[in-house]
Amino acid sequence: MTGNTTATTVPIELLRKYDRPGPRYTSYPTAPVWSEEIGRESYLTALENASKDAVAPLSVYCHIPFCRSRCYYCGCNTCIVKGDNSVNEYTDRLCREIAWTAGKLKDRKIIRQLHFGGGTPAYVGTQRLARILDAMEQSFIFDDGCEKSIEIDPRITTLEQLEFLADRGFNRISLGVQDFNLDVQQAIGRIQPQDQVSTILEQCRRLGFKGINFDLIYGLPRQTVESFTETLERVMELRPDRLAVYSFAYLPTFKAHQAKINEEELPVTEVKYELFAKAIEMFTGAGYRQIGMDHFALPDDELSLAQADGRLYRNFMGYSVQAAPEMIGLGMSSIGYVDDGFYQNISKLNEYGRRIDETNCAVYRGMKLSPDDLIRQHLITQLMCNFYLNIPVLEKRFDISYDEYFAREKKELKGFIDDKLLEVSDKHLEVTPIGRAFVRNIAMTFDAYLKGNAPGQKATYSRTI
Ligand code: SF4
Repeated sequence: MTGNTTATTVPIELLRKYDRPGPRYTSYPTAPVWSEEIGRESYLTALENASKDAVAPLSVYCHIPFCRSRCYYCGCNTCIVKGDNSVNEYTDRLCREIAWTAGKLKDRKIIRQLHFGGGTPAYVGTQRLARILDAMEQSFIFDDGCEKSIEIDPRITTLEQLEFLADRGFNRISLGVQDFNLDVQQAIGRIQPQDQVSTILEQCRRLGFKGINFDLIYGLPRQTVESFTETLERVMELRPDRLAVYSFAYLPTFKAHQAKINEEELPVTEVKYELFAKAIEMFTGAGYRQIGMDHFALPDDELSLAQADGRLYRNFMGYSVQAAPEMIGLGMSSIGYVDDGFYQNISKLNEYGRRIDETNCAVYRGMKLSPDDLIRQHLITQLMCNFYLNIPVLEKRFDISYDEYFAREKKELKGFIDDKLLEVSDKHLEVTPIGRAFVRNIAMTFDAYLKGNAPGQKATYSRTI
């Protein structure tokens, strides 16, 4: 596998050519093809099967869906609530869900990876976070060296909260930054001075957090190539360990709060391509390794090291060193993966509360993977994470012939090979440095649900660039 140490310049004409709606592949099969026929009963069977391997470690995702106010661009499952009642009730229910799930998993107790996402997890305050963590500790066992990560909002995070998190064993942290330009911040309803971010960053470093991540967004209102370049320069000065740069999808029909954004202030598509290309060029030029189409890490960060030897993994928590393939989802809208199946909790706060009160379980949809799904899941995960598919490993693992199984897909890869986005031999597929920006497009070649080869609903996806 080749490294990526020099700046990668992605030609704008290729961005134009390959920009189309497509999945992000945080899962395969992707969430829009999951079914509501998979619910509590299926989940109970999956937990029962998962409980049989008592020594296998687990990953846990815990969703805290509250924020102080709604940023105009927000695409997350979050709620703005008044007073403490909703937050207290949610904490109680989450603790009950933790105990119920642990009970069903019987002797399977080891957690090797924990992630708190939101919303703004710290919004609930340290006392409630402590209650949730206590509930987990009563029901599960955190493995030595467990990776504990959390998303934070620099605008409301205090030193006391960071100290609490460090004290409770949190060792990874992700900061929502988006853009440092004040004009852009005003247009997205999120004022966050750079000082606030650099202070939190310094505090996180002092407290020993590793893998500190900044989330940035391109395609926001009032962003220009000049203004975004300035933001990128300031980010490079702060030099976080990891960076994610997401494309903003403006969907006011589905997300009513996005209507607060003035559509006329959004950068036109061609400018959006330039913003993305600029970010890739500057990050790779500054020594970051591109570890996903829109994720970057310093060469000595564990994600870069894991990618270099093919151990990188991707799930709903983002990229990680594969700590435990099976994941328990807790809280409103969370997603888990157990016994070769996806299980998602309901995404409405009231309904989550009702289901937990009545049955201790809020799973409302999911998917049990078929043998074909598992083959394609492996292949797509390898491409998305490691930009590399080892064909003999795939053939041995699933007892198939790659040439026969993927005869049609092999033909469809020709365009990517011609555009120098992909290199292919009898033994491997390897995404080139320029091809990394198009890895979603390459992965789509192997998605049976986009080809009409497998049953599934028609899905709406964001654009690939
Ligand atoms: S802080 Fe994050 S989750 Fe909360 S409203 Fe803003 S973007 Fe959404």
